[in-house]
Amino acid sequence: NKQVILKNYVSGFPKETDMYVTTSLIELKVPKGSNGVLLKNLYLSCDPYMRPRMTKDMEGSYIESFEPGLPISGNGVAKVLDSENPEFKKGDLVWGMTGWEEYSLITSPYLFKVPHADVPLSYYTGILGMPGMTAYAGFYEVCSPKQGECVFISAASGAVGQLVGQFAKLLGCYVVGSAGSKDKVDLLKNRLGFDEAFNYKEEPDLNAALIRCFPEGIDIYFENVGGKMLDAVLINMKVGGRIAVCGMISQYNLDEPEGVHNLTRLISKRVRMEGFLVSDYNHLYPKFLEMIIPYIKGGKIVYVEDTAEGLESAPAALVGLFSGRNLGKQVVAVASE
Ligand code: NDP
Repeated sequence: NKQVILKNYVSGFPKETDMYVTTSLIELKVPKGSNGVLLKNLYLSCDPYMRPRMTKDMEGSYIESFEPGLPISGNGVAKVLDSENPEFKKGDLVWGMTGWEEYSLITSPYLFKVPHADVPLSYYTGILGMPGMTAYAGFYEVCSPKQGECVFISAASGAVGQLVGQFAKLLGCYVVGSAGSKDKVDLLKNRLGFDEAFNYKEEPDLNAALIRCFPEGIDIYFENVGGKMLDAVLINMKVGGRIAVCGMISQYNLDEPEGVHNLTRLISKRVRMEGFLVSDYNHLYPKFLEMIIPYIKGGKIVYVEDTAEGLESAPAALVGLFSGRNLGKQVVAVASE
């Protein structure tokens, strides 16, 4: 059984060599009466929240750290090979928490049956999985969006951002995204239907870029990066605006968070800034599927994936999230059904 193991706890930017691939023996059978399931992993998801899990007992974290010497765990799509759990049977396709390995024996499953198998299965790591629900809950529940509003999204071409932008367009908003390369800006404007987009790495003056794109100000900011971008956005919010704090990826590898200086603008502009966790909205998943499946099948929403082939490529794919190497949702294809 090939596995990706965390070598040691990480400080600063994660490196490919913080993980290694090894092979161990596994009995392809679930112990009788154990409640476990044996999975053949098909797709694994690379997600930014996995970086804090590489730090020992991260202060204020909402999720447990990984253990050095053990396989990394994360979201994935898998096929059930054997089961002692009444909820799953051999042959089921499932998505949820699994290991970064070819086969996983899961003793307390946090897994869901794949509800629609007539769409790409990898979508359950992205649009139909945790990032999709994050975009849905964050935009519709936290941002209180209205037609015609001006919406700004950072890390806009990523797993979450590309969907928030498309949801906002479907609602009739004016939508602008920031991203870290020319290819990503082209993707936003030409394929994902954003009204405007800019490359924040080539705009030393973020405030000027925002004034250019939003001469009248921003109603909604979907925050994925934090730091300097948040500071510039705070200056450009409209009265009564909302900021949904989804993530702050620019801060995850820093020992000391970068100072944000313009928070008093929240008062003068009466802006609501709200952090949220997708896990608080799990109950909305059926409602989300009802909306999103017809959009996918009707081609009203597109989903861009960046697929790394093979378990060996997983460490580089995960690390690539923090330099922006991924164009769209970063998936690792491990095996076919
Ligand atoms: P992405 O697919 O967007 O991948 C990460 C992207 O972040 C990179 O491609 C890169 O794009 C950008 N990035 C990396 N480092 C920096 C930096 N220093 N400054 C600015 N941008 C950077 O990831 P997701 O869509 O999966 O996640 C987006 C955000 O949502 C993250 O902050 C994540 O933690 C958060 N999240 C929160 C959840 C919640 O429940 N609250 C659930 C899921 C995700 P670029 O080239 O554009 O810089």
